[in-house]
Amino acid sequence: MDLILFGPPGAGKGTQAKKLVAELGIPQISTGDILRDHARRGTELGQKAKPLMDAGKLVPDEIMIPLVDTRLREPDCAKGFILDGYPRTIPQGEAVDKSLQSMGRKIGLVISLEVPDQVIVERVSGRRSCPKDGSVYHVVSNPPKRPGFCDQCDTGLVQRDDDKAEKVTARLQAFHQQTAPLKSLYQERGLLRRIDGVGSPDGIFAEVRQAIAKAGK
Ligand code: AMP
Repeated sequence: MDLILFGPPGAGKGTQAKKLVAELGIPQISTGDILRDHARRGTELGQKAKPLMDAGKLVPDEIMIPLVDTRLREPDCAKGFILDGYPRTIPQGEAVDKSLQSMGRKIGLVISLEVPDQVIVERVSGRRSCPKDGSVYHVVSNPPKRPGFCDQCDTGLVQRDDDKAEKVTARLQAFHQQTAPLKSLYQERGLLRRIDGVGSPDGIFAEVRQAIAKAGK
């Protein structure tokens, strides 16, 4: 199934996507991860994207649309994919439809993880991640066994630049202004399932699974 995980930054899209990858055996396509990888490697795309990401602003559609179109056509997406953090604008949403249409496919389900802004700010500013294996922690709600170090590989944990409290507000603003309007479009098409994103990751996953099972029938 071709799935979209929708929600503000820090809603838990990445966490749920990883669980879905394990369950469904289809790839997670996180545009944030793809862009961060480019930024780290200093590619031309990474150099263009980095200042925007650091400011909590969206990377232009002219860059994002071809990037994702190419990714969706890769062989590992043949049986489905989980889009995490994409689409984030109306033109991106239209582009996904167009890409899928050209492959004789369509979006199966859009899962919206609903989390209030205040909770997002607390969550995101406490988030720490392992630069080596990508494990994600939270200083209060999901701390590593040894503070500051990854449970899996003992690498020092880092805070994403754009997870600092002052940047989170800009990202939430981009979400409300540019991304939220997509939700009503998916709702009108009967593709949207809203799930309460506040709670334990496993409890939320149980609901995500149920929504997918229902949509697959
Ligand atoms: P994320 O990890 O999904 O929160 O993404 C981190 C940053 O990457 C965002 O704040 C944007 O600057 C950029 N980004 C990720 N996905 C997109 C997208 N679909 N469109 C535009 N910019 C994006």
